[in-house]
Amino acid sequence: MNMSSLSTISTGMLSRLDALATVSESRNGLTRRYLTSQHREANDLVGDWMREAGMRVHEDAVGNIIGRYEGAREDAAALLIGSHLDTVVMAGKYDGMLGVVTAIECVHDLHRRGIRMPFAIEVVGFADEEGVRFQSTYLGSRAIAGTFRKELLEARDMDDMTMADALRAFGLDPDQIDTAAKRPEDVIGYLELHIEQGPVLESMDEPVGVVTAIAGATRRVVILSGVAGHAGTVPMGHRQDALLAAAECALAVEEVAAKRTHCVATVGRMEVAPGATNVIPGSVTFSIDIRADEDVKRIEALAELDPWLAKIADKRGCTLTVETVHEANSVACAPWIAGQIEAAIATNESRVVRLPSGAGHDAAAIADLTDVGMIFVRCAGGISHNPDEFITESDIAAGAEVLLRVIENFQPEDGSCLMDKT
Ligand SMILES: [Zn+2]
Repeated sequence: MNMSSLSTISTGMLSRLDALATVSESRNGLTRRYLTSQHREANDLVGDWMREAGMRVHEDAVGNIIGRYEGAREDAAALLIGSHLDTVVMAGKYDGMLGVVTAIECVHDLHRRGIRMPFAIEVVGFADEEGVRFQSTYLGSRAIAGTFRKELLEARDMDDMTMADALRAFGLDPDQIDTAAKRPEDVIGYLELHIEQGPVLESMDEPVGVVTAIAGATRRVVILSGVAGHAGTVPMGHRQDALLAAAECALAVEEVAAKRTHCVATVGRMEVAPGATNVIPGSVTFSIDIRADEDVKRIEALAELDPWLAKIADKRGCTLTVETVHEANSVACAPWIAGQIEAAIATNESRVVRLPSGAGHDAAAIADLTDVGMIFVRCAGGISHNPDEFITESDIAAGAEVLLRVIENFQPEDGSCLMDKT
């Protein structure tokens, strides 16, 4: 199929990313939370761009903005392509937005050339992925996947406003939230282009990669209790120092992850009590976050870790309690879609880099509805969730080119799904 060159128009994508970056609750750095006036403004902007690209636009009941580009036949099942328009606090301008802006550019390119695919394309700007306002992630994509938990409508933000009231203030009806769900028979797959948010592509000197899986994660809270004592009077051999036990535990956490491929673990929070210069730490509470591309690896790592922590606690005369506070299984990207992304990357004689995603993405929620595939784009220094997030113009163009090539050559797993529905 004839390719147009998106690189010639990448400046358009850049100026759109810049425009979205100005729609912010904070002055320095980008902050755009769910159902705020900035969310409204972003949806309006993106909706205008979608219309310009030849799409019919609507906002669904959870606040996702969706543009539909019909296929050769009206009402054909749709290839969904999307990412999120909300941000963390003090975000960069690519996380989420890059996937929406590039998808619109690809559809615009098809529209300019008068190309209609056998399937429809729906570009989705998800309303909330980061979960900043109501401390619950994937709100937009879960609504579309039909897995939105209605009890969340009673969740409250910092100002004590419920999600239901925030939806009403935004002009939506919380009782209609079910209508955002799509039927599996109306979709043929999901693509998401996203900033990598890590250093792998940069270290391999490739602009674009294909995601194999979105990592599963376990989060735990560990409490070690020893005995607080006078820092001057208790000899070293007589101590039950909870912090030294915690320090050894943190090294054990590092080791169980480091010996496994695509497994990462972090002790990101540690609270020492009583926390005084002249007192031996009596108790320590710390977090463990462990992720892996395959669930079996994460489970094995934890099975190795548990007795190890118990042994450390025992050796140092501390008691140990461990509580699991979060558990999410990994989501595999569909091999049949990943294969098409790999073919698109290889067209340019580029090396095909396959990598798992350690971060969560809307694709993980959409996987409950349909098969998913993800394209990663290189970012400078692997920096993300930070105003310094940066992607070069040529890498944006390279990512968009791969996405367009995947769309133009997209083969549904079951071609018959594009036949007339009865
Ligand atoms: Zn993101």
